[in-house]
Amino acid sequence: MPELPEVETLRRQMEKALVGRKILGVEVRFGGRIRPSPKALDALVGARFKAFGRRAKLLLSHFSNGLTIVTHLKMTGSYLLKKAGESPTKHAHAVFHLDKKQDLWFEDVRKFGFLKIMKTADLEKEIFDKEGYGPEPLDPSFTFAKFKMCVTGRPSKKIKPLLMEQSCIAGIGNIYADEACWYGKVHPERTVGSLSEKELKGVYGGALKSLRASVKRLGSSSDNYRDLYGEKGGNVPHLWVYGREGKPCRRCGAKLKKIRVAQRGAVYCPTCQKPPRSGK
Ligand SMILES: [Zn+2]
Repeated sequence: MPELPEVETLRRQMEKALVGRKILGVEVRFGGRIRPSPKALDALVGARFKAFGRRAKLLLSHFSNGLTIVTHLKMTGSYLLKKAGESPTKHAHAVFHLDKKQDLWFEDVRKFGFLKIMKTADLEKEIFDKEGYGPEPLDPSFTFAKFKMCVTGRPSKKIKPLLMEQSCIAGIGNIYADEACWYGKVHPERTVGSLSEKELKGVYGGALKSLRASVKRLGSSSDNYRDLYGEKGGNVPHLWVYGREGKPCRRCGAKLKKIRVAQRGAVYCPTCQKPPRSGK
């Protein structure tokens, strides 16, 4: 599932390739995940891409006419830039015909992703506030003090699921939550209240370090994530723990283990990340 680095990679590529480009037509092939309705996309015909933004894992395509498409890629959503006339796959749910003989496909095999067309001016109130998104980790204003204040307000929560909730750090999912816990030498099931200042700093530092490294390498294609050009990101061989169960810990050499935490797989090092003592 695409997380912050993957969505950010796509955002940067779209910004570079598509700003100023005009939408000549939109073809909806599966409208089940387009809000408020597939017809709403008609309002974009004749408009130009103005800018691309990202909030948490949401990709924001802003248009010259004051509208925005909010896209959540969920499990398998992707945008692909193609030559005009290329036949869309059966998973291409919407095809945007662009100027300069190119098409932009929104593809989604599992159909969990969605597109929401709305006024750009309403984003803050109707989306960001409602979702309760916390700070953006790549923003320089996201300090350890801010992170600590948010997480320590919820002492009984387990650290890994809390990282994935979006309220204390926006944009983290299963991959980078595992990475952050490993870096901070914290077992994913430890409660926030049981963590020392040093451990919290480790988790915070690990989150930032793993996200930044992945953005630099154009994301982790650990599942079927592909970028705007259908290419894989380069970060998977550099992951510390995610997807590496049974392989040696990069710090101590112990065999990494996989368990379930809050219904999701979690990979950790049994030596570096000691399990919580009972009740903690
Ligand atoms: Zn280890």
